[in-house]
Amino acid sequence: MSRCLADRAIDHVVLERGEVANSWRTERWDSLQLLTPNWQSRLPGFGYEGEDPDGYRTMPEVIDFIDRYARVISAPVRTHTTVISVRSDDAGYLVITDRDDWRCRTVVLASGACNIADVPAMAEAAPGAIETVTPIQYRNPDQLEEGGVLVVGASATGTQLAVEIHRSGRPVTLAVGEHIRAPRLYRGRDLEWWMDAAGVLDERYDEVDNIVRARRVPSLQLTGSPERSTLDLNTLTGMGVKLIGRLAGITNGKAQFSGSLRNQCALSDLKMGRLLDTIDAWASENGLDGEVAAPRRLAHTEVEESPPLGIDLNSGEIKTIIWATGYHADYSWLHAPVLDRKGRIRHDGGIVDAPGMYLMGIQFLRRRKSALIDGAGDDARDLGAHLAAYLDG
Ligand SMILES: Cc1cc2nc3c(=O)[nH]c(=O)nc-3n(C[C@H](O)[C@H](O)[C@H](O)COP(=O)(O)OP(=O)(O)OC[C@H]3O[C@@H](n4cnc5c(N)ncnc54)[C@H](O)[C@@H]3O)c2cc1C
Repeated sequence: MSRCLADRAIDHVVLERGEVANSWRTERWDSLQLLTPNWQSRLPGFGYEGEDPDGYRTMPEVIDFIDRYARVISAPVRTHTTVISVRSDDAGYLVITDRDDWRCRTVVLASGACNIADVPAMAEAAPGAIETVTPIQYRNPDQLEEGGVLVVGASATGTQLAVEIHRSGRPVTLAVGEHIRAPRLYRGRDLEWWMDAAGVLDERYDEVDNIVRARRVPSLQLTGSPERSTLDLNTLTGMGVKLIGRLAGITNGKAQFSGSLRNQCALSDLKMGRLLDTIDAWASENGLDGEVAAPRRLAHTEVEESPPLGIDLNSGEIKTIIWATGYHADYSWLHAPVLDRKGRIRHDGGIVDAPGMYLMGIQFLRRRKSALIDGAGDDARDLGAHLAAYLDG
């Protein structure tokens, strides 16, 4: 957004509580690699120029990439400046930080979608002897006690952590709710390549049937690794990770799991099939069938006949619970009447329900790719144009 505002000669400042790329420096686990290939992190006027376009950035590489971008575009960033309040005043907005105050006619909320880990209320009922960890706190398996680990949630975060923790020698049980299975490579190309080329990631917020639902869809079960391998539940079962149903509650020290595991997996196989059908249709329409490998689908997800419906958390079998159950944004500093009853910002494709206020970086904000690094550019161009018109008008 800063780059787009600069292109329009709009005077602005970027306030950041930490260093540039703070979330990547302080809120991610050590081994994380982007699940989007290098070529796919495109920012306005800045793309990948290295020799491994199909690789996946490590955290130091992501930090370097964003840091370099800020320098290349001379973004007017004030680091170590925490916004503690934004409220409207006569001229627009009064922004109070822990260093100084700002008055501005417009404000762009780009504070991230994943500031706080979603931890269900039932976590309170876990026995005190069990350590509970969120993905924001998790760095590597060494910080966990020896012994069994229950990972709750089987989307990108949960499946990635399950693999790493299992490899550390701790037995892992993975509680599986709604998730979306996805092959890393399909017909010889990265799934992200297909979704980008076929326009799936460009699908607009005002084109989908149910945007509220689309904004809640879990992340694809993808991981970035040098092997470019698929990380699905069959991979995990093959390694020895135990699959169990969705965690439904904790009562008297007993974790209870839903009997829906088989259904959840069938549904996930079905959704993956639909995505791949869309890709196949696009490939045929665009004459790619002769160029790429023939369609080959993954075998169905294998599920134990009757997985256990309960685990006694006092038995010592489980020492740690990891809540890989999603994230949400923190707007505790936003004192404007723009939040709905679930604490989400009311907006129309990033144009917030308050004059001169804009939102960025949120799941399906304007396009399916909005919450990816690659989505920021198009959204910033659109919202920058709206913001400029607002200032002019
Ligand atoms: C585990 C994980 C893996 C991901 N993997 C990928 C991936 O592979 N590929 C991909 O494209 N995307 C990935 N994403 C999404 C990625 O994080 C977003 O695309 C990207 O971070 C959005 O950038 P942003 O600037 O909107 O938000 P953020 O990167 O979250 O940046 C927000 C910034 O605002 C600052 N801030 C927040 N509150 C305040 C305040 N009150 N005052 C001052 N500063 C404040 C924060 O310090 C932070 O630096 C992943 C996200 C997570 C959580």
